[in-house]
Amino acid sequence: MTEKQYGGATSHGKKNEAHKTSNSKPHKVKTQKKESSKPSSRHTTDIDNLIKAGEISKEVKTYAKSIIKPGIPLLEIAEKIESKIIDLGGKPAFPTNLSINEIAAHFTPSYNEETKAHGLLKVDLGVHINGYVADTAFSLDLENSEENKKLIEAAEAALKAATTKISLGVELKEIGSAIEKEISSRGFKPIINLSGHQIEQYNLHAGLTIPNHDNSQTLKIQEGTYAIEPFATPGLGTVRDGKPSGIYILESHGQVRDNFAREVLEYIAEEYQALPFCSRWLVKKFGTRALLALSQIERAGILHHFPQLIEKSLSKVSHAEHTIVLTDKDKIITT
Ligand code: MN
Ligand code: MN
Repeated sequence: MTEKQYGGATSHGKKNEAHKTSNSKPHKVKTQKKESSKPSSRHTTDIDNLIKAGEISKEVKTYAKSIIKPGIPLLEIAEKIESKIIDLGGKPAFPTNLSINEIAAHFTPSYNEETKAHGLLKVDLGVHINGYVADTAFSLDLENSEENKKLIEAAEAALKAATTKISLGVELKEIGSAIEKEISSRGFKPIINLSGHQIEQYNLHAGLTIPNHDNSQTLKIQEGTYAIEPFATPGLGTVRDGKPSGIYILESHGQVRDNFAREVLEYIAEEYQALPFCSRWLVKKFGTRALLALSQIERAGILHHFPQLIEKSLSKVSHAEHTIVLTDKDKIITT
């Protein structure tokens, strides 16, 4: 998943708070209260979980590339990817995004989706172990198009430049600038209102945002986990909100009156906590009556419903993403 800027703010209310607070005072790797184990061993455990989630994501990416062919239903692809994550001992950190052509991100199949894989397909998948997340994405050309291939190469080169650049003390704009340079030199534009993000336990979009262009941001990278995710397009280089995606996140505590809606809400809070989930997952668990419950929960004002993100001139978009863990001595690309 990616983070959209809305005139300086980020995708939704809760994140705005996190964004503001943390941009003025970036978080350290993990500040978790919890059991009495020594800080050093707890730290190791955090990193171990991040690495394990990353290892699973690598295996799932290889698997995904082997099963995705033009004409395969997106619903089948998403379900196979998510089952594979579970088979390998992880959990999906968010619904698998399968976004085609001008849809840059945040498309996940609905429970009755009929769309089949085609065009320029972005696969964005997440794995978590105890809330420690690996967030990674790649793009596939399913129509043998030269431009698709060039766009994919641009996003990948930008990701490579940015992962090389990121380290403790580097200013955010330097990472953005490295991304912009790779994409512009190939005659495309980065999508400047989408960005990478810091990740904390059970918090996918935490703290710092990692720009996809030189945004003059002089805040410096500190220890932590970061998703870097450039997007390349021959279009305008911005996205607008599209249709509702069916991807949600629980933003605050609240009440629903209906008994069944309350049961669904309790399941969401328990199973997904503050990570994104989708209506498809709830239909799988509870049947289609989950949809009515979900709309009741949505009306209670405690969910954020992510919109699909569409390139403004309806041009194609490519995407590439890795999760990187920075400690005082290491830089680990986990995915
Ligand atoms: Mn991301
Ligand atoms: Mn992602």
